[in-house]
Amino acid sequence: MADYDVDLFVIGGGSGGVRAARVAAEHGARVMLAEEYRLGGTCVIRGCVPKKLLVYASRFRGEFEDAAGFGWTVAQTSFDWSALIANKDREIGRLEAAYGATLDKAGVRIVKARATLADAHTVQLANGERVRAAYVLVATGAAPSYGDVIPGLDHVISSNEAFHLPDFPRRVLIQGGGYIAVEFAGIFCGLGSHVTLVYRGDNILRGFDDDVRRQLRVEMEARGVKVITGCTVSAIEPAGGHYSVHLSGGNQVTADRVMFAVGRRPSVAKLGLAEAGVAIAPNGGIAVDHYSRSTAANIYAVGDVTNRINLTPVAIREGHAFADTVFGGKPTAVDHTNVPTAVFSEPEVGTVGLTETQARARLQQTDVYEAIFKPLKATLSGRDTRVMMKLVVDGQSDRVVGCHVVGEGAAEIAQVAAIAVKMGATKADFDATMALHPTAAEELVTMRKKTASYARAAAE
Ligand SMILES: Cc1cc2nc3c(=O)[nH]c(=O)nc-3n(C[C@H](O)[C@H](O)[C@H](O)COP(=O)(O)OP(=O)(O)OC[C@H]3O[C@@H](n4cnc5c(N)ncnc54)[C@H](O)[C@@H]3O)c2cc1C
Repeated sequence: MADYDVDLFVIGGGSGGVRAARVAAEHGARVMLAEEYRLGGTCVIRGCVPKKLLVYASRFRGEFEDAAGFGWTVAQTSFDWSALIANKDREIGRLEAAYGATLDKAGVRIVKARATLADAHTVQLANGERVRAAYVLVATGAAPSYGDVIPGLDHVISSNEAFHLPDFPRRVLIQGGGYIAVEFAGIFCGLGSHVTLVYRGDNILRGFDDDVRRQLRVEMEARGVKVITGCTVSAIEPAGGHYSVHLSGGNQVTADRVMFAVGRRPSVAKLGLAEAGVAIAPNGGIAVDHYSRSTAANIYAVGDVTNRINLTPVAIREGHAFADTVFGGKPTAVDHTNVPTAVFSEPEVGTVGLTETQARARLQQTDVYEAIFKPLKATLSGRDTRVMMKLVVDGQSDRVVGCHVVGEGAAEIAQVAAIAVKMGATKADFDATMALHPTAAEELVTMRKKTASYARAAAE
């Protein structure tokens, strides 16, 4: 590798790129990393972390409401959007600096510039510099897409802008039914907005278990989010400080902000990928093998730009595995099965493994265990809410192949349940585990009777 300026050039300083750069440097590689915006990438700057901070902020409202049943008198409350955003930005700035310090310490040279490929071994930087690299890792992530061009599309914001709105919007219309749309609906609703969620499909959270989708919708509507499905935004018209949003089917909604969360596209454009011999997969991301190697022998790609499972821990694991494979003498393929995931909606969703529909399509016999119950806290708070827990079991092997939770703490529950599911725990193992009382999660080890699920009950 002596003929090259660096052993590894990483394009993109997000979750995957930063991990790969650090670990490769720790393995002894000479590493350079280019980031065109801010170190930390989507997760830290305008994704998971700031989102979760806003979710925390939005949940105080429910806590204030619930407090009365427990004897508290909550004085008049008020909410200051500017204070929240300023505090959030301070924390994000701290994290960004910490990422830079970690890379510095590992000996990675950071360049704050856009990078593209001139050929398979040559990186062109926007500051004019050219760098010859033995290996290149493309970790450029993904960016919001806006769907079809419609009148007034230029007035629409994405999640990127939602984190920096100068004023708090009293009325918000969100188009989309995926986790980002649903999470922002919960955030704005909790903070006091009137929220309308418009989605073209028949129900929110496509790809999640049908009972989860149904339960979450019921709970979101009970909290005040207006969910309109089977419909799209057809035009947005400015109307004296707000917007008149026209929906397919003829309805019209007035909103102070219109946000689209209709999908994200891998950032592959104008990177010089074709010139370097890097092919794009049918999913729109860079085509890679199990070791994240692209169709060009010395170019690898990790994270959202490959469009496999677009989550931070997955990008990090892929970046780490790449560095171990190429620079650590330890070929490592990432296992993409049974990846737990959460939706930080209100209430929360936590899930791992197969949905009931997926299990029925793949397994000879699928058993379902389900509990829908009023949580203990709701007895005194008086809140009309339910927690849902569902286990999907392979009827032949007795293995628990799916675990789905809707309710407070669902994400934390799913992370721990994922260990059992990943290990291949059986329903008998769950049953043999002592309950921890009083918790909601104890239902997962006390469900004895197979149940007809919501979806099947509705169909029957
Ligand atoms: C609103 C939102 C909420 C999310 N919430 C969660 C969550 O709760 N949990 C979870 O696991 N995941 C969440 N995600 C997804 C998660 O953020 C991504 O999966 C993760 O950040 C992907 O990491 P990455 O390294 O592939 O890309 P990114 O983190 O996007 O990093 C790519 C970096 O490359 C830079 N870049 C792009 N092109 C160039 C170039 N040519 N030259 C130099 N730099 C370039 C970009 O500026 C960016 O910093 C969320 C995403 C969004 C948008």
